Amino acid sequence: MSEFAEIPARARPMAAWPASTTAVAGVVGFPVRHSLSPLLQNAAFAAMGLDWSYLAFEVAPGSLDRAVAGAAALGLRGLSVTMPHKDAAARLATRRSRQVRRLGAANTLTFDAGTIFAESCDGAGLLDDLRVGMGFDPAGQRCGVIGAGGAGRAAVLALAEAGAEEIVIVNRTVAPAWRSAALAPQVVRVGRPEDLRGMDLVIQATPVAMVNAGLVGEPAPAERAQPAEPAQSGQLTGQAGSAEEGSAIIAGVDPSWFGAGQLVVDLVYDPPFTPFLLEAQRQGATVRNGLGMLVYQAARQIRLWTGAEPPLSVMWAAVSDRSPAVAHGTATGPAKSSSFESSSFEPIDGTREPD
Ligand code: NAP
Repeated sequence: MSEFAEIPARARPMAAWPASTTAVAGVVGFPVRHSLSPLLQNAAFAAMGLDWSYLAFEVAPGSLDRAVAGAAALGLRGLSVTMPHKDAAARLATRRSRQVRRLGAANTLTFDAGTIFAESCDGAGLLDDLRVGMGFDPAGQRCGVIGAGGAGRAAVLALAEAGAEEIVIVNRTVAPAWRSAALAPQVVRVGRPEDLRGMDLVIQATPVAMVNAGLVGEPAPAERAQPAEPAQSGQLTGQAGSAEEGSAIIAGVDPSWFGAGQLVVDLVYDPPFTPFLLEAQRQGATVRNGLGMLVYQAARQIRLWTGAEPPLSVMWAAVSDRSPAVAHGTATGPAKSSSFESSSFEPIDGTREPD
């Protein structure tokens, strides 16, 4: 451990830190300059007294293989992986967790003695935030998920494994929704936007608000015009159109349908209050943005990489500088629990499973 490890990152003498002993981790994505992960992770490492540093690396689509080979050769300890590299990260790894094998996507790479281990912390981070941050247990609950990309799939699998009674997927394009439903066909079905009206929990897992805010580009609709399977009765997403700019409606789901007794989560955290979330809150629903999921999945990554307990209260404080209203829970409505102290953090099973 460096003699400067206990000094908060911003106060460290630049000439002496990082040192030749400093362990390096980072996030790869495109774009990635908006990411809060360096803020979160560096605050945690400093508070833990670890001589670790975490950087953001902008890696162009199609270049992850070279980036990962370089990271391994340079001795990086771990990488967080974000859009658009999650599927490639799963393919490039030499070992994969069970979640990664089922999802075909990874958001965490751990470099260890010549192996590259892939894990997906998104679904578990979401569950941590629902249970610990919101006091909401998905077991036996009726859930809706809007979106069928990497985050939507992770949410579906996590909710199914947590014992949700029913999960309905709504997506603007049919084929990805069916692929997502195949993760847990016994409880998941593809549905119409109106099917989400009476749900206990609704997860908004598209980047629409980020696109409308100009934070990311518009992702190409996946096979929008040609569904891979024929339409089946009760499994239509054809009415689930895109969001209109300035409208709170996403994939045909109108947040003004929601109200008291329902929990509505938007996985987007920048902007902290999406039009979707604001409208649901106006109607009396309990709402939550994606900051909690980000914090909890980062905590899981730190535990995987270092084997040490991450300081959740420090991590929340680091991001509350950027999104004060959300980090203090004022955007969450009548949450059953709004404590984010590390004492309320449940131990995480970081067990690795071989391929
Ligand atoms: P992704 O793989 O690109 O999937 C995007 C999904 O959104 C697809 O289902 C897509 O539908 C849908 N979509 C995109 N634009 C749309 C539009 N204009 N109208 C309706 N649907 C649209 O992205 P992802 O990795 O799942 O991420 C989704 C969001 O979750 C992002 O904003 C990401 O930042 C956020 N996220 C947050 C956390 C966190 O920790 N808080 C973690 C992971 C992700 P098609 O299938 O029709 O293209």
